[in-house]
Amino acid sequence: MHNSFLTISRKEAGYRPILERIADFGEVEQTLNQEDRMLQASRCMDCGIPFCHWACPLGNLMPEWQDVLSKGKWKDAYDILTKTNNFPEFTGRICPALCEKSCVLMLSEQQPVTIRENEAAIAEYAFQEGYVKPHPPKVRTGKKVAIIGSGPAGLAAADILNKKGHTVTVFEKDEEPGGLLRFGIPDFKLNKVVIDRRLNILREEGIIFQCGVEAGKDIEVKNLISGFDAVCLAVGAGEARDLKAEGRSLKGIHFALEFLQQQNRVIAGKQIPSPELISAKDKHVLVIGGGDTGSDCVGTSIRQKALKVTQIEILPQPPVGCNPETPWPAYPNVLKTSSSHQEGCTRAWNLSTKRFIGKNGKLTGVEVAEVEWKKNTNGKMEMTETGKTEIIKADLVFLSMGFTQPVHQGLLDNLGVDYDSRGNVAAINPNQSSVSKIFVAGDVTSGASLVVRAIDSGRKAAKAMDIFLTT
Ligand SMILES: Cc1cc2nc3c(=O)[nH]c(=O)nc-3n(C[C@H](O)[C@H](O)[C@H](O)COP(=O)(O)OP(=O)(O)OC[C@H]3O[C@@H](n4cnc5c(N)ncnc54)[C@H](O)[C@@H]3O)c2cc1C
Repeated sequence: MHNSFLTISRKEAGYRPILERIADFGEVEQTLNQEDRMLQASRCMDCGIPFCHWACPLGNLMPEWQDVLSKGKWKDAYDILTKTNNFPEFTGRICPALCEKSCVLMLSEQQPVTIRENEAAIAEYAFQEGYVKPHPPKVRTGKKVAIIGSGPAGLAAADILNKKGHTVTVFEKDEEPGGLLRFGIPDFKLNKVVIDRRLNILREEGIIFQCGVEAGKDIEVKNLISGFDAVCLAVGAGEARDLKAEGRSLKGIHFALEFLQQQNRVIAGKQIPSPELISAKDKHVLVIGGGDTGSDCVGTSIRQKALKVTQIEILPQPPVGCNPETPWPAYPNVLKTSSSHQEGCTRAWNLSTKRFIGKNGKLTGVEVAEVEWKKNTNGKMEMTETGKTEIIKADLVFLSMGFTQPVHQGLLDNLGVDYDSRGNVAAINPNQSSVSKIFVAGDVTSGASLVVRAIDSGRKAAKAMDIFLTT
């Protein structure tokens, strides 16, 4: 019987109280007890056509693991989960859960199964009970593989190729592996202990990590090509979108990632010399860009004790609740209020940045113009200024307007890979670049996306590489 959704309501674990959580960088999300978690899993209707599974880039087998979880078979749930997802402890924490938006119970008063939280709970239980053990391959193939970049795409590819018996070396230019999981996503969303715990398993299984090594510089392209049987580029989409308005060179304007990475490093115990330290303490902070990275800057600024935090967006405010333009089972374009927004932030939409204003070389404010969006005769949205402008007081600005493409200069240009029309590395065959034995995975080929998509891409690259190495 799969009808407990009739009697059991969706119950989220919720966040820690605001005043408590903004005093530290610990994870904001709480956990339910095991009994409640099993009850939540029992709400899954085991639909004939599971749209959750369709919506998940990894094709996670949600109905199957909800079923065993609801019966208290946690190990079975973990085994089913890891058939399709190498790192459920990451996605269980930070995935926007496309699956939940397409759950059939979403249609009923927006009460989908708590799929993401259930996933995190299963992964935590598995680590706690010691189910997650190293399983090194029994036989080595003698083939050598280089993975460039240790974000979720690179790690997923490395995990699978290593399990196939190939000898895998991951080159990472940062001092520790993890990509944006470690140096980007704030600790209050993803505690870095969660990454270290998984890396220990991967190391024990035989993956070699060489950190502080920039491929294309510290290891030359010709050595990569001659030294390895196949190479996977998983270097992310590192080129942040800039805002080249008047006053851009004033002191106090930073890319979001500069700020977020620094905070991650401070929490990891690194000393940042004070001239380089970006501090939001006692500042008026303006975050330009209304997306998730911007929201992460909001939460980080609040924890650093900013005086006031404002986040602006050039696009109109999305509808609240549901949006007829993105109907179920599609991911809805609706107003999102993150845990960081709840912590105290002024949000505004339809604002375009005109210029940065300063005094003695230091930022003091930002002039913004109100815009409106209307469909043109071709049905495309067009922006016009209304003529209304205002100056927002700001002594710190974070540019969070997304990422345009991977960094071409250096490794990618030296390899001579083709790019697509958006500047990402083109995949001529699935996950294969235009250069022989060079494969691609994650944001470097898709453009900036999501952890779940990066893991999926890493899995697909590994499959293509294994076929290449063994046939
Ligand atoms: C602030 C922020 C918050 C986000 N929050 C979420 C979220 O909550 N949920 C979600 O699903 N997604 C989120 N994302 C998106 C997600 O992090 C990315 O889509 C994902 O990490 C991409 O994975 P990747 O492996 O392709 O690349 P990355 O994670 O970017 O990893 C690429 C790695 O390659 C390394 N590298 C680059 N060049 C070289 C070189 N030449 N030699 C060696 N190493 C190199 C880099 O140092 C980096 O470690 C967020 C992104 C940002 C910026």
